Amino acid sequence: MNAAVADAGHVRATILESYRRRTERSAEHYAKASQVLAGGTTGNLRYFPPYPLYFSQGAGSEVVDADGNRYLDCFLANGPLLLGHRHPAVMASVQQYAALGSLQVNPPLAVEVARLIQQAVPCAERIRFLNSGTEAVMTAMRLARAFTGKRKVLKFFGHYHGQLDALLIGLGSVPAAIGLGIGNEAASSTVLCPYEDIEALERALNSDPDIAAVILDPAMHAGGLWGSSSKYLKAVRELTARQGVVLIFDEVITGFRLAFGGAQSVHAVTPDLATFGKALGAGGKLAAVAGREEILRSLAPDRPPGRGPVFQSGTYNDGTEALACAVAALKLYKELHEGGAYASLTRRAERLAVGLREAFKRHAVPCHVNQLGPMLQLFFSDAEPSFEAFSGLPAGPLALFYLALINAGILLSLPTSNHVYLSFAHTDADIEKILEAVAVVLDRFDFSAVVRAGIGEVSPNDRSKSCEPYAKS
Ligand code: PMP
Repeated sequence: MNAAVADAGHVRATILESYRRRTERSAEHYAKASQVLAGGTTGNLRYFPPYPLYFSQGAGSEVVDADGNRYLDCFLANGPLLLGHRHPAVMASVQQYAALGSLQVNPPLAVEVARLIQQAVPCAERIRFLNSGTEAVMTAMRLARAFTGKRKVLKFFGHYHGQLDALLIGLGSVPAAIGLGIGNEAASSTVLCPYEDIEALERALNSDPDIAAVILDPAMHAGGLWGSSSKYLKAVRELTARQGVVLIFDEVITGFRLAFGGAQSVHAVTPDLATFGKALGAGGKLAAVAGREEILRSLAPDRPPGRGPVFQSGTYNDGTEALACAVAALKLYKELHEGGAYASLTRRAERLAVGLREAFKRHAVPCHVNQLGPMLQLFFSDAEPSFEAFSGLPAGPLALFYLALINAGILLSLPTSNHVYLSFAHTDADIEKILEAVAVVLDRFDFSAVVRAGIGEVSPNDRSKSCEPYAKS
C-alpha cells in the first residue's frame, strides 16, 4: 500500500465512522426498510453506502433526517423543489384544492395550469398532462412516430430520458445499456449519436430514413451538465426541420429552472415537442408533453381514420394535488422571472461554483466544476474537461466528499448522484455556509490523496461499472 492509499484509507474510515455515529436512526431504518422495500429504498439512486439517509421533513432550504440532523439541501429531491420545501403558496394551494376532492375528471384547474405553461414556454401550443418525465417522453415519441410515419428515435450519448428501455442506453460514452434487463431488442429502434457534433447528426439522419425524432436534454444533465451551445441547437433545429424529423427537447431538468421559458427560451430555439416534469409540479407528481398543435392534434379522439387518434390516457392525468402544486408554482415562477430572481439564482450558483473551484485549488485537489443556471456538478480529475474524459471516472472519491459534507450538515448532493441544485429558497448566506463547510472538510481531510488513490465509497450506480455491453443489431 503506498502512502496516498494509507492517507486515503484513513480519511475514508474517519468519515464513515462519523457518518455512522450521527445517523444511527437511519441505520436502524435501513435495516427495517430492507425487509420490506426492494433494496431498502424507493429507487436505486436513493441508496448510497454504507446506508442511505432517511428524511422526515423539510422547510425552505433545509431538510431533517430521521436522527433530527438538519441539512442545507441542494439535492431538492433530485430537482423538483425549485421553490424549496413546503413553499407556503404551494401548501396553501394544495389545501384549497384538497378540500374539493383528490381526483376529478377534466378539472378546470388543468386548463389554468396549461394556460400558464403556454404563457411561459415558446413551443407550447398544446399540452397534455402526465405523471412522470418518463411518461412524457414516451408520449412525445409516440406522437413523433404517428406524425412522421417513421419508427426510430435518435438520442445522444450522455443524455438520460427516463425509464424507457429503448432510451436506457448510451448514458455514458459507450453504447451500453445501464443495468441488467434491457435486451438488445429494446434498443433496436434507437440510434445513438455523439452530442454537439452536427456532422455526426447529419450523417446519422442521412443514412437512416426511418428516424421519426431527435430527442435531447439541453443541459446534458446525466452526462455531466455540459449544456448546449445555441449555435449547435440552432443547427439541429434547421437540420431536423429540413429532414422532416420531429425535434424533442426533454426539458424535465431545464424546464422552469434554466429560465422561466426553459432552455428553448434561453437558446431561442423552438422544438416541435418538449417534455416537462420535476419543477413543473414543484413536489406534486406532474409531467407534461407540450408542442405544436399540428402534432398534438393527433391526440384528439375525433380524428378522421388514418389521421389519428394517437392513444394516450392515464388514470392520474388530472391528479388534483399535482395540479394544485403546479398552479401555485407556475404563478410564482412567473413573478420570480419578472422580478429578476432567475438571474439572482444563477449568480448564486456562479458564486458557489467559483468558491468551490478556489477551495479545491487551495487544497490542491484536482476538481472541475460544471455550472449551468442553478445547477452544478463536480469532477475529481485533472484531465482536460470533456464528457468522454469524465464519464468513466470512479465515483468513489466524490461520493466520499459528499458524505463528508453530509457530516457537516450540507446535503450538496446524494453521494451517488452528483446532482447539485439551488432553489429560490437558498440565500447568499446559504452559499457562504456551504463554502465554509467545504473549507472545513478540505482542511481536515486530504482529498488530494483520496483522488490519487481513487478510493472512497464505491457507488452502486457508478456508470463505469453498471453498464452492460450493448450490441447494436
Ligand atoms: N428526462 C430527463 C432529462 C430527466 O432528468 C429525467 C429524470 N431525472 C427524466 C426524463 C425522467 O423523469 P421521471 O423521473 O419523472 O420519470
